[in-house]
Amino acid sequence: MKEMSPLEKVRHSSAHVLAAAVLRLYPDTQLDIGPPTESGFYYDFDTDMAFTPEVLEEIETEMKKIIKENQRFERIEVSREEAKQIISDMGQKQYKLGRLNDIPDEETISFYRNGEFHDLCAGAHVSYTKKIKAFKLLHVAGSYHRGNSNNKQLQRIYGTAFQSKDDLKDHLERIEEAKKRDHRNIGREMGLFHIDEMVGQGLVLWKPNGAIIRQELEKFITSELTKQGYSQVYTPHIGKLDLFRTSGHFPYYQESQYPPIIQRECLAELAEEGFSSTQLENKLDKGELDGHLLRPMNCPMHISIYKSEKRSYRDLPIKLAEFGTVYRWEQSGELNGMTRVRGFTQDDAHLFLREDQLQDEIQGCLGLVKLVFSTLGMNEYRVRVSLRDPDSDKYVGDTEGWNKAEAALKQAVRTLGVEYEEELGEAAFYGPKIDFVVKDVIGREWQLGTVQVDYNLPERFDISYAGTDNKNHRPVMIHRAPFGSMERFCGLLIEHFAGNFPTWLAPEQVRILPMNDDLLSFAEECSQAFLKHEIRVSIDRQSAKLGAKIRRAENEKIPHMIIIGKREAEEGKVSIRSRNNPDLDGTCDLQDCMNQIEAEIKSKALPKKRTATPTE
Ligand SMILES: [Zn+2]
Ligand SMILES: [Zn+2]
Repeated sequence: MKEMSPLEKVRHSSAHVLAAAVLRLYPDTQLDIGPPTESGFYYDFDTDMAFTPEVLEEIETEMKKIIKENQRFERIEVSREEAKQIISDMGQKQYKLGRLNDIPDEETISFYRNGEFHDLCAGAHVSYTKKIKAFKLLHVAGSYHRGNSNNKQLQRIYGTAFQSKDDLKDHLERIEEAKKRDHRNIGREMGLFHIDEMVGQGLVLWKPNGAIIRQELEKFITSELTKQGYSQVYTPHIGKLDLFRTSGHFPYYQESQYPPIIQRECLAELAEEGFSSTQLENKLDKGELDGHLLRPMNCPMHISIYKSEKRSYRDLPIKLAEFGTVYRWEQSGELNGMTRVRGFTQDDAHLFLREDQLQDEIQGCLGLVKLVFSTLGMNEYRVRVSLRDPDSDKYVGDTEGWNKAEAALKQAVRTLGVEYEEELGEAAFYGPKIDFVVKDVIGREWQLGTVQVDYNLPERFDISYAGTDNKNHRPVMIHRAPFGSMERFCGLLIEHFAGNFPTWLAPEQVRILPMNDDLLSFAEECSQAFLKHEIRVSIDRQSAKLGAKIRRAENEKIPHMIIIGKREAEEGKVSIRSRNNPDLDGTCDLQDCMNQIEAEIKSKALPKKRTATPTE
């Protein structure tokens, strides 16, 4: 077992103190296990009583008492029989006996004791409970015993602990900030997306405001692709099973796919012949039965387009791009708003290349990812280059090709001017790849943007081009997606900006606030002028005080407010109050105001921070 770090010891010890406190308060509780986690610890409990926030507080108070008692953590090594006795004396047979059975015969069985509490545990722990200087219980979640949904659901109390009060405080602030930025809440408040159980779990409905953000992102990337010589294609969301058998996606990844679609007549016939469901599945796997599959990947479709014509070395590179929707069967417990879904759209493209074109094209792909990140203010990221394990023979393609591809990847990454790490043995069996891991504003890491070289699919689909020698040659493929998935990327953007999008992405860019109803006609005039410039605008027509209108626009995170008073209207002027660009604040001509906002949109400027908060 890996040795625990000092911080892990503090966290794991906190889990024991938590269990001890729960047993003091609720002696009938059955304990399961309580390990440290990446950011804290948890313990699983079986009790009929609900751990409400009030109860958590009570438990925390009891934990503080135990810490103050400064109990010593003591390791006791015992025989299997003695272990059973201790568990039975503690009244903890329900789960602990099973956990004891998990320990192989050759391993030492140990308990850790603090005060009256014993826990079956390999360790390690801090020496005394007072070493736990900063902890906090966070929340409760349901968790199946051994992660199996056929077992009973237990209550898992999550907590965290740090070596100092300051570290704990920082961590709790980050959690608060993450909650405020939660894309599921902001998405609801801003009308960005909706997930409807009737439609299906993990299937995202983009509402009008969310659709605007997605369209702007798509426009942005499409215009870059045009500059780089890509061609846009459209392909169906569904294809024959044989297509995905050829690509190798079926049946090998079938547990992460929606089940195949088989014709009703075909199923009825098989049922009549008395086939069992296992036999049916066998027939499917062996390719004796055809049907359709919701596509788990876009690649086979694009390869089919490549294959539809004879290609020569002069035609290459061929770069086919599509916002292609794919479907994956994620476990329902894994689903999360827009960031873990079952249907998502990749900003996908497949490049078909000669080997001598590889490096330039990889460089182009990396440049695109870098542009996306810098445009959206994601300036902190790491780059990971995954290479093959030179001692393994699991890779397809010849060694010479791999050497070239890896050299090309490394050379291309160097031109990025960012630090990168090489990871041997992390390449896919079909080719090396580059991944971008982005750090968001509150320090969480997201894996986005991949560029993968592929020797396998060209082989499987037997695609070729005629070379200068008039013979057939095998092209190399690149798969790449700078955003990754539109759903996940938008989810991340919502949290990254906390809903305060740059003006070019904001669903509503300008809100016009007339001071009273007499000014509505001038407001209307302004609105028409903005619309002509394709600036998304609305008028607040409610008869409320200006202060209330401003607050509403602020809550809805509108980048620019245009306030119209009597004097301004007479002079054809407007007064701007800008969330995204405080430098604009003030009174100016309508035309000036429009030009400035238009320039901000065109340049895709990021929101500027206010130096001081405005006072109402
Ligand atoms: Zn322990
Ligand atoms: Zn692909």
